[in-house]
Amino acid sequence: MSETQRFCKNCICYDAKAQECHRYAPRPVDLDQQKKMRWPVVQPINWCMEFQPRQ
Ligand code: SF4
Repeated sequence: MSETQRFCKNCICYDAKAQECHRYAPRPVDLDQQKKMRWPVVQPINWCMEFQPRQ
């Protein structure tokens, strides 16, 4: 039995089109000297300990 590789691209939290992690709510960031809300941008082969495999 194979285990799903622990990559963002295989995680239920990953928005592949935007390359964003949606594990938590968007967070405030400074963009163009304005406060905006954004999800973290992560690459498909990144990973973290919050990984949850897609079914
Ligand atoms: S592995 Fe972690 S960083 Fe990557 S999409 Fe899942 S929760 Fe987000």
